[in-house]
Amino acid sequence: MPTNGGGAGGTPDLLPVAEARSRILAGLTPGAAETSPLAEAIGRVLAADLAARLSLPADPVSAMDGYAARSEDCAAAGSSLTRIGESAAGRPWTGVIGPGEAVRIFTGAVVPDGADCIILQEDVEASSEEDGAIVSIREVPQKGRFIRPEGLDVTAGDIILAEGTMMSARLIALATSAGHVTASFYPRPHIGILSTGDELVSPGDTPARGQIVSSNATYLSAFVSACGGVPVELGIARDRPGAMLDALRAAPVPLDLVVTTGGASVGTHDHVVDDLSSTGTELGFWKIAMRPGKPLIHGRVDGIPLLGLPGNPVSSAVCANIFLRPAIARLSGSDHAPEMIAARLATGLPENDRRQDYLRATLSHDDDGLPQATPARQQDSSMIGVYANANALIVRPPFDPPKSAGDMVMVLRLDPLL
Ligand code: AMP
Ligand code: MG
Repeated sequence: MPTNGGGAGGTPDLLPVAEARSRILAGLTPGAAETSPLAEAIGRVLAADLAARLSLPADPVSAMDGYAARSEDCAAAGSSLTRIGESAAGRPWTGVIGPGEAVRIFTGAVVPDGADCIILQEDVEASSEEDGAIVSIREVPQKGRFIRPEGLDVTAGDIILAEGTMMSARLIALATSAGHVTASFYPRPHIGILSTGDELVSPGDTPARGQIVSSNATYLSAFVSACGGVPVELGIARDRPGAMLDALRAAPVPLDLVVTTGGASVGTHDHVVDDLSSTGTELGFWKIAMRPGKPLIHGRVDGIPLLGLPGNPVSSAVCANIFLRPAIARLSGSDHAPEMIAARLATGLPENDRRQDYLRATLSHDDDGLPQATPARQQDSSMIGVYANANALIVRPPFDPPKSAGDMVMVLRLDPLL
């Protein structure tokens, strides 16, 4: 028999959101590490610490155009030096600067041995742009100023990125600068996506009376990609016993997680629970203390973890943010914590009941520039239009007392890509 989670929060028949999330994550682990190109690593997670191969910069370099010299030779305005060479980016001057000598230098060029200061080109009078020119100093330079010392940014051998780090474009740039072309990554998890329902038609087909376009799978597919996973669409299972198992077992590649939408209640036309029970799997059939979002199914089918989301588009989308996103992160080798901020309510809200509420909202700024949350007027969980135009969810704990305009609430900022 499926088990409903009970427990904390004084709501014995409803499972708190945090408890549901930790139970879902408990059984998930990433696959075996593989070496892959950094250029394709956006959203992937490092499977090992990454040490710098190169120091950045590898040599002391000039931060400005000017002349490299010895500061002791430039102690007074009016001193003059003899230009003996040029150091440009990619074409270092290889000698040693001696007393009374200067080397013309450009931004990014190696500072020659012997030099310890850069005189800005606007602070000198040079007799010509040729070697042998007399360079008179108008402004005394500071020792070390405008020289980027070797290893200023990164030192070879140092750990620059830790295992478990998800790669952003800027971290890919860092690893590349430090001498890497590939790195060890956890594989992108393959997430099966299955819709259920006799009323569904595939995107592109014209729905007849009583039918609707199946949008959940498209949403979840985009969602999985944006979270760094690989979506595997498994189509639409009709409302008959066994259909969802047939579809799952026809998956073209091995799956790390299966997500279903719809058919999760115990109505005459809902078969997900019975189908899963028939496989002998241990099944969690939870009424989660959240709105939108109950019910939620959790279990394994043929050993593959399964998350059964509600059918209503907004319910499945909110559950994807709360449960699927951390699940993909865990399967990818990282952790995901939702980004919560405090905001002032633009309008009042009535007392909340025993379910944690996720209100579709617009996050903006009030006249003082502080975060302000405006709940959407209609919160029906079928309304994908309202969700699509929201940029945040106001999160109200169970039994939250009534709120007035100006009161503080916690807000989950929706990822702009999700
Ligand atoms: P169910 O949980 O199967 O009763 O579905 C609840 C609601 O969600 C129904 O109105 C369904 O039509 C709708 N729904 C179920 N699956 C999808 C889907 N793939 N795309 C859009 N809406 C869906
Ligand atoms: Mg259905």
